[in-house]
Amino acid sequence: DATQFDVVVIGAGAAGLFCAAQAGQRGLKVLLIDHSERIAEKIRISGGGRCNFTNRDLDPRAPQKHFVGENPNFCRSALSRYTAQQFIALVDRHGIAHHEKHKGQLFCDGPSQQIINMLLAECADGGVIHWQPCSVKSVAYSAADGGARRYQVDTSRGPVAAPNLVIATGGLSIPQLGASDFGYRIARQFDLEVIPPRPALVPLTFAGEGWAPYAGLAGLALPVQIETGAKKERMAFLEDLLFTHRGLSGPAVLQISSYWKEGTPLTIDFAPGTDVAAALGEAKARSRKRIGNELATLVPSRLADAWVDGEPALQRPINEAADRALQALAERIERWQITPAGTEGYKKAEVTAGGVDTRELSSQTMESRKQPGLHFIGEVVDVTGWLGGYNFQWAWASAFACAAALSSA
Ligand code: FAD
Repeated sequence: DATQFDVVVIGAGAAGLFCAAQAGQRGLKVLLIDHSERIAEKIRISGGGRCNFTNRDLDPRAPQKHFVGENPNFCRSALSRYTAQQFIALVDRHGIAHHEKHKGQLFCDGPSQQIINMLLAECADGGVIHWQPCSVKSVAYSAADGGARRYQVDTSRGPVAAPNLVIATGGLSIPQLGASDFGYRIARQFDLEVIPPRPALVPLTFAGEGWAPYAGLAGLALPVQIETGAKKERMAFLEDLLFTHRGLSGPAVLQISSYWKEGTPLTIDFAPGTDVAAALGEAKARSRKRIGNELATLVPSRLADAWVDGEPALQRPINEAADRALQALAERIERWQITPAGTEGYKKAEVTAGGVDTRELSSQTMESRKQPGLHFIGEVVDVTGWLGGYNFQWAWASAFACAAALSSA
């Protein structure tokens, strides 16, 4: 019967394509559905068009190091059963050249389309039937003709049914690429808790007036140490920061945004590894240059200018500066505190934090604990990785765990 499948996978992004391929290759009859015209758009635009497809530094035994969520340990099982090395081996088998860029991040040498083509070839290998564009009108769990209960999926190409349904529709980021809240709606339909979604790996914005003195720095990039949170919740990154017209971006800010809580400040060190107070004190003893010029030997000159501008006590040769003024300046370079007004939102967020509560799912199989045959994989789950290939590795690993469980059931 052409309408009966072993598994229907909804969402043909990273997780859905990989899960469908794996399940198909294990002999299951798989239908993969996506409502978009174009396939796997997020893979295509990922990593600046070169797809940062995994990260060598990922340690499955310590997932809390690189993943955020109510229970970062949830992803341990899947990440240890399908590792970055396994995905790299797959990429190698397909002859896709790649390189390590920074902190374990692996990128394709060529366009991301190679990863999409690889996943499509894997799906073809598994005999996966692929409907796209195809929208899902409704999902019900019911028995037809006195048989066992199945997922009855009503689609724009007609009804289909399967004992297993895999939701791989991702998060809310980049709505113009087909993101939807479908996964959360299905979770709620079957009474599963959803941790409220929020934009993550996202630029931060600062309110009007207070930001005016810094708006002129737009375009400036520099390495910083950035922190948020107090005590046990303290999180810090050593990465590049980028000033924008509306606020702050760059890898440092994207990383910290996943941990930042509204109303709390960020602390930024613009000269990580340098004792700025000592350096300025030493300059005072030997130099007659202006304070701004001496500061410009420690940080980019645009930043130095912005930090001394409008401060009469700093408009003078450094040998005439008051120690207190230099100390205060050093403090503002090493521990600049600023409270974001908000984020740039889903339009600019690389991922969505929150999602289907991991307490609802088996960490071995990604199946709902209360709704038999209903699975959630990838970004729709409350597992959010750091920037650097961690989100794709979660997509691959959760997809693999799910497919392995489906075929052994
Ligand atoms: P997605 O890949 O988003 O796939 C979801 C699919 O479901 C889509 O094809 C969508 O069309 C479909 N869908 C949605 N709603 C419905 C519906 N109602 N009916 C049918 N189909 C539906 N991560 C990295 O690890 N490395 C990177 O380099 C990287 N770069 C990124 C760059 C950008 C600009 C962005 C936005 C994200 C980036 N990410 C990166 C994050 C990564 O793309 C996602 O975490 C990953 O794609 C999630 O995979 P997924 O399969 O869960 O969801």
